[in-house]
Amino acid sequence: MAYQSINPYTGKLDKSFADIEANKLEEKLALAHSCFKHDWSQRDFQARTAVLKRAASLMRERAQMMAELITLEMGKLIAQSQGEVALSAAILDYYADHAEQFLAPEILKTPKGEAMVESSPIGVLFGVEPWNYPYYQVARFAAPNLMAGNVVMVKHASSVPQCALAFEQLMLDAGAPTGAYTNLFATKDQVAQVIADPRIRAVALTGSEAAGAVVAAHAGKQLKKTTLELGGSDAFIVLEDADMDKAIKHAISGRMGNSGQACTASKRFIVVEPLADAFLEKFQAALGQFAPGDPLDKATTLAPLSSAEALDHLLEQVSGAVAHGARIAMGGSRVEGMPGNFMQPTVLTDIAGDNPAYREEFFGPVALFFRVADEDAAIAIANDSPFGLGGSVFTQDIERGKRVARKIDTGMVFINSGAVSSPELPFGGVKNSGYGRELSSAGIQEFVNKKLIRVN
Ligand code: NAP
Repeated sequence: MAYQSINPYTGKLDKSFADIEANKLEEKLALAHSCFKHDWSQRDFQARTAVLKRAASLMRERAQMMAELITLEMGKLIAQSQGEVALSAAILDYYADHAEQFLAPEILKTPKGEAMVESSPIGVLFGVEPWNYPYYQVARFAAPNLMAGNVVMVKHASSVPQCALAFEQLMLDAGAPTGAYTNLFATKDQVAQVIADPRIRAVALTGSEAAGAVVAAHAGKQLKKTTLELGGSDAFIVLEDADMDKAIKHAISGRMGNSGQACTASKRFIVVEPLADAFLEKFQAALGQFAPGDPLDKATTLAPLSSAEALDHLLEQVSGAVAHGARIAMGGSRVEGMPGNFMQPTVLTDIAGDNPAYREEFFGPVALFFRVADEDAAIAIANDSPFGLGGSVFTQDIERGKRVARKIDTGMVFINSGAVSSPELPFGGVKNSGYGRELSSAGIQEFVNKKLIRVN
């Protein structure tokens, strides 16, 4: 059975769930389609708002239970799991409050007659979602699209089935009609089958480049629109006029949040020469404070990685980097002598442009450190990446920070902080980090029909 909850701290299998059977899959597709046509798309904003508002408030009532499920299935520190639940509820509220305004008809100025653009829902959408933020990723996809009048089906990552079920139950308990939000324990072959089904109108994927390429190819064959939120290797630039203490604080939270398993984690630390030695020293000292333990214990600071495979992959990347000339400034190994998929906080330096590590995403607590001569060299390294998701610039001169931000080839740049996600801020990337946007007013415009109505 592919869908399994395996506790990353104990390594123990908690629960398994069978893949969906063919006849059940057909039943759920038919239900979703009928719900879209005859019920959900016909409701007004007020009726949809009531369901999403109720879901947000139920999520807050269930916060502890839902947060514990995240920690049990993918290992996040419990305080961060609680933070994720709160953010997901805020996203549900945000679209409930603003969808009608975001999708209001636009009256066009036209020399003749009358013209307007109306936004109408397109049908059943399919989301393929990752394990690293099991509710936040789903809320980002479901909340705007449900408010737009679409219905959604979700194939969640196979390592977080209990979170997947908890979110589906939340929507049902909030009063969503059957078929408005459907969880599917689908196999990869079934993903292809669902995408090919004529009742599915568009597909959103958050995950790796490899999964994005496969899913977008299936959708492309069927001429269906996709949005892809893929990997990243965000640069964290520290200029010579940066506030060092602030930079260190954000470097630590940017690299260590979610045990480093975030698409917008700060991954490449690019520091100009006058500050490089001091930054490296303070950064390592702060990383040295992290201590592994039970992620359900509030006192723990270092969480395990989500799976044994994830840890093995990260260790392979570190040894690959070293084999190609990188130096381990600290860490570099698994944490021995305790259960759990723990990786030591690690810093790699001396990473040349022809080192495979230079272009890879390190999905865990491994920081790549670069020292550069000046601002231009920092920008050049930041942009010399297949990814284009986010990035940070540290400087006390905000106008300078904005000028640098404009030269960075990514979908998001943060001045004097690591990446931040909030319902009103658009989220997404360019290059191999994907296309399309989630959150903010942009996130609700991806899967609606912008229909022109013109009166002669
Ligand atoms: P992943 O392996 O690509 O999995 C993501 C989802 O895609 C899962 O549901 C997975 O199902 C499914 N999937 C994988 N291969 C597939 C295929 N061939 N056909 C159909 N479905 C497939 O990624 P992950 O390891 O869960 O997440 C880590 C990656 O996601 C990182 O690269 C990270 O940067 C990226 N990410 C991006 C964002 C963003 O917003 N840009 C946010 C979070 C994460 P199974 O679990 O069943 O394999």
